[in-house]
Amino acid sequence: MTIAESTSLPAEVYAQLAGRIAGVVTTPADAGWDAARQAWNLSADQHPDAVVAPRNADDVRQAILFAAEHELRVVAQGTGHMAAPLGDLAGSLLIRTTALAGIDVDTEALTVRVGSGVIWADVTAALAEHGLMGLAGSAPDVGVAGYLLGGGLSWFARSLGLAASHVTEIEAVTGDGRILRATAETEGELFYALRGGGGNYAVVTAITMRVFAVRDAYAGMLLFPLERAAEVLTAWEQWSRDADESATTSLRLLRVPPMPELPEFLRGQRFVAIDGAIAVDQPAGSESDAERSAAAEATLSPLRDLGPIIDTFGLMPVGRLGEVHMDPPGPVPGAGDGANLAELPREAIELLVQLAGPDVESPLLAVEIRQLGGAVSVPAPGGGAVDSLHGRFLIYAVGIAPTPEAAAMVESAASAVLDATRPWQSGIDYINFRESSAAPEQLYPAATLARLRAAKAQYDPADRIRSAHPIQ
Ligand SMILES: Cc1cc2nc3c(=O)[nH]c(=O)nc-3n(C[C@H](O)[C@H](O)[C@H](O)COP(=O)(O)OP(=O)(O)OC[C@H]3O[C@@H](n4cnc5c(N)ncnc54)[C@H](O)[C@@H]3O)c2cc1C
Repeated sequence: MTIAESTSLPAEVYAQLAGRIAGVVTTPADAGWDAARQAWNLSADQHPDAVVAPRNADDVRQAILFAAEHELRVVAQGTGHMAAPLGDLAGSLLIRTTALAGIDVDTEALTVRVGSGVIWADVTAALAEHGLMGLAGSAPDVGVAGYLLGGGLSWFARSLGLAASHVTEIEAVTGDGRILRATAETEGELFYALRGGGGNYAVVTAITMRVFAVRDAYAGMLLFPLERAAEVLTAWEQWSRDADESATTSLRLLRVPPMPELPEFLRGQRFVAIDGAIAVDQPAGSESDAERSAAAEATLSPLRDLGPIIDTFGLMPVGRLGEVHMDPPGPVPGAGDGANLAELPREAIELLVQLAGPDVESPLLAVEIRQLGGAVSVPAPGGGAVDSLHGRFLIYAVGIAPTPEAAAMVESAASAVLDATRPWQSGIDYINFRESSAAPEQLYPAATLARLRAAKAQYDPADRIRSAHPIQ
């Protein structure tokens, strides 16, 4: 056992914790240690002091009290999609929330209560059985908790706003060990902070959110050769200026890796990919699918008229929206980072094409631009710390990073992309797309940050809990 793989506490101390909880404690001495400490992002090499997998809120409380007794930090992780900014977790107790399961759909109230260890794929499937939809992001295996703690940008963001603005109740154990229910009426500052302010104040055990009676959407992907990057980016940017709010799209300069499991038409190819979803009227009477799709087709037509080589847009059950963006189906080693853009003028487009277009070799899998505007750019009434996103676009640059050398190359290429767009960045970034450490002032306006810091002092005065984007 190397020094990095030993706990700071004797094994019998962790045995005492294990005796106090229904869940499981794993230390470096246990078989299964490597699986227990592994994050979804395989590039993250996490070495916490021990990993606790709680079964209920009281287990979480015991773990937090134990951490306080032994001067450890507490880090909660559902999947570890956002593991990169957390570092090696030395001196931390990692609370792996996977066993905090449960999905309870209330078809009358149109809400769903989910355990904080649940991933979106399972919620989406459970809701689809009732003809309902939650505001999932592009990747089905992202955790519901981490996503909502940051804000939650779904394919319906421009018509329905951020997913966090539809959260109605959060159950959590605070950094000072209190088991609380936070709503607009009760523990309002905790409720505010946990909707966009990250998991800095408490370990969330369950979340209740509104869901929507939506069965299908007009969704898919348009692929163009990467050689058309400048033309398609310019046209998409112009289209996005007054595109109907029913549409939420993404554009990527995409280099598909030569992975054998991918279909041949994608494998090793380079594209400009535009994908997303357009909300449609739900089946009510005798309207045909063609009639229901007509408005969405009209919205998409300026992009279709560009003549993609592949066009998969069509009516699709919302249970399949997780396929649209072709995010990796399971853990991968990756590195990336993002920022919010106020504008995407011609000069910025030219720089992006220089850095990731057809005439360069790039280690980046994708330079992605997500479309904002519409409801996601308007503060949601009664919303939390992040009730809207700044700017007209998000930019995110990402690459596969199986080795430290590859990670360094990807990070350098991603930094070059973000540096190039700096003149047009909005100054306040979205934490779910920031995968590097960022000063809190870069994530929240001053008034929001002051309120978050007050919540931190109120609920986690000893700074026990560390999340990917600390606010202290
Ligand atoms: C392929 C891919 C696609 C994505 N697509 C989108 C998208 O479409 N829209 C979007 O908004 N985002 C998207 N994201 C970003 C994603 O929402 C963030 O990475 C999010 O933080 C992941 O949450 P998680 O729970 O899966 O990850 P984790 O790494 O487990 O957690 C993320 C953060 O939340 C904290 N946390 C997790 N669980 C708890 C808890 N129970 N209590 C307290 N704190 C907790 C962690 O400490 C960490 O700081 C995407 C990311 C990837 C990798």
